[in-house]
Amino acid sequence: MKKGVPTHSQSSLRPGLAARAGLRIAAIYAVLGALWILYSDRFLAELVEDPAQWIQLQTYKGWIFVAVTALLLAWLVTRLVRRLHHKNVQVQRLNRTHRLLSGINGTIVRVRNRDELLNSVCELAVRRGGFQLARILLHPAPGEALVLASQAMPEGSPPHSDPPPLVKLQPEPHLIPIILHDLEKMDNAGSWRELAKGTGLRSLATLPIPDWASAAPVRGWLELGSMAADHFDAAEMELLREIAADIGLGLETIEKSLNLEALAHYDPLTGLPNEALLRDRLRQALARTPYDGRVVGMLLTEVPELVRLTDLHGVHVGDRLRKELADYLTDSVRDGDTVARTGRYSYAILLTDMARTEDMVELTERLLRGPEVAIEGEALPIQLALRGGAALFPADGDSTDQLMGHAALALHNNTREPGSCTFYSPELNQMAVNRLRLTHGLQHAIERGELALHFQLLVDARGRQPMGAEALLRWHSAKHGNVGPDEFIPLAEESKIIHPLGDWVLEQACTQLRAWKKAGVEPFYLSVNIAPPQLLGAGFAEHLREIMERTGVLPMASCLAIEVTETAFMNDLDRAEQVLHKIRALGVRVYLDDFGTGFSSLSYLSRLPVDALKIDRAFVRDLPGDERAGSLVRAIIALSHSLGLTVIAEGVETEEQADWLEARGCDLLQGFLYSRPAAAEKLELHSGEYRRARARH
Ligand code: C2E
Ligand code: MG
Ligand code: MG
Repeated sequence: MKKGVPTHSQSSLRPGLAARAGLRIAAIYAVLGALWILYSDRFLAELVEDPAQWIQLQTYKGWIFVAVTALLLAWLVTRLVRRLHHKNVQVQRLNRTHRLLSGINGTIVRVRNRDELLNSVCELAVRRGGFQLARILLHPAPGEALVLASQAMPEGSPPHSDPPPLVKLQPEPHLIPIILHDLEKMDNAGSWRELAKGTGLRSLATLPIPDWASAAPVRGWLELGSMAADHFDAAEMELLREIAADIGLGLETIEKSLNLEALAHYDPLTGLPNEALLRDRLRQALARTPYDGRVVGMLLTEVPELVRLTDLHGVHVGDRLRKELADYLTDSVRDGDTVARTGRYSYAILLTDMARTEDMVELTERLLRGPEVAIEGEALPIQLALRGGAALFPADGDSTDQLMGHAALALHNNTREPGSCTFYSPELNQMAVNRLRLTHGLQHAIERGELALHFQLLVDARGRQPMGAEALLRWHSAKHGNVGPDEFIPLAEESKIIHPLGDWVLEQACTQLRAWKKAGVEPFYLSVNIAPPQLLGAGFAEHLREIMERTGVLPMASCLAIEVTETAFMNDLDRAEQVLHKIRALGVRVYLDDFGTGFSSLSYLSRLPVDALKIDRAFVRDLPGDERAGSLVRAIIALSHSLGLTVIAEGVETEEQADWLEARGCDLLQGFLYSRPAAAEKLELHSGEYRRARARH
């Protein structure tokens, strides 16, 4: 792309050229005249002695001189004119090729599509470069056979069959330009000569298009044909070489930008469109779909099982499953629909042009079932089910943002098991607004003194004596009244308020523990719930140590426990494991809360540094009547004990439950049967002294 406008020397004939040619003719004439004068009289004197005859011959000699010099002049001038004409043609041709070069460079800068670039180059070569034929042959990939990528001939050219690439006339490797002049006289040019006969082509050249991107020597060939028998001289070839090199550069630029575009719009692992492209497709679908009863559906999904399997079996297996899932989803929808990967464990499906809303319901059911995948180490194939949230056009919104937002809201509100879908409804919107209001209120709860820490006792299963307590947060909002932790803790986790909130709880709990210890309440354990984002936040263990130190709890670290749920391990098992090790190194115990409601994976249990396991109250509730719950709880107790873990049962409300659990070896019981969560001063606690005295009687 270097040369642009032709230089002066190339754009016209140099004036000195004509003067020099004139002088050369004059010199030839002068030398010939002088020789004639010098030698013709002498020669005549030798030949004749008769003066009368001599005079006559002198006249003839003069005529001969005039005739010879006239012929000589005619020959010299004809030669000169021819040469000047030839030069002029050459210069015009070079000018055209220069203009062609600048035109092609302009095209390379402007055009962003490969075929458009190649077609423009061939067209320019014919229109601006004056060539009779221009074609570009490319290797689709290094080492693959050449294919005709583009071709142009002047309008009205006779139809012809495509001859083979000119490079084929030479033995391999084909790396250098080839020129054929006087094509009609060549007897080895085969089908090229046939083409020449039909089209009037008289010379041909083929130039390598270099491959700038790969190590392959050539990307393809630029072939040009001309009506002039000797079109391709050295100067012309130099310019054409430059054109071919620039075409190579243009191709590389386009391919690079295509790659960038692919990176910007597609997920490299699965090849699925990403969210940006999905939004674009949704926008197009909405623009295409008039309000004529057709339905567009946006389904957002997450795949919880994928999280667990990736953690358990590693990234390799996780990536394979992602690809299988991508194939499953893509195969399950129609061509016009879009499956996109929107996050590490989330996918979106745009369903277009549906006749009825019911179609969306059926499709969604099928899609969310997910593929059945086989994994080494897992005895049975696993159903990779998806959890979904959906919004529909026109019912739930008519813009990209509205539909995406409403589908996200629906997904957020889908707390059911994978395979299920929540459809957007205006009530969800109202709930979202309420949540926003609550979150806003929560932000000021600490400074307004609206929070309180309550405690619920844990008793040992045998003596039913208080052994410890769980700290449970309470919020009495001036605006919203009493709000339960099940409602506000998830809001705090989403909005990052969990960090100041969690710190406040830890600080209060440690202060209380220290106060109990001072009062001689012994032995006594206090457990504090830690939310996953808190546990996995930067420097949690160090922060905990600092709070313990400040509140004087560090020396009695073994009386403090943290309760974590399995969700803390879902996203980053390694990190969670590391933090828990650090926490235990402080002497603090770790309880696994709500066991049985999450993945309840046995491999987690054996791997994680955990001291105790709390059986979720959902299982305890059905005891002792429910056989399934009974055998599950029995199995959990046996397994925990085999791993050396303490077992705590939550939600014990009846004596029968307590007796049943005690008989099965459960270590600690917690529930309304023994105490409702209450402020510290309302707890019925006995000092160690009291207990020892009771034991003596
Ligand atoms: P959790 O940690 O499993 O706490 C036990 C929950 O069961 C408490 O609900 C408690 O009041 C309730 N419970 C205890 N015994 C019984 C019973 O016999 N029957 C019934 N029906 N329920 C019983 P609460 O206080 O509403 O807390 C709910 C959840 O909120 C807690 O579940 C915990 O996950 C979370 N939470 C509470 N306080 C905090 C906190 O300070 N920080 C964090 N991160 N989470 C907290
Ligand atoms: Mg708990
Ligand atoms: Mg619990």
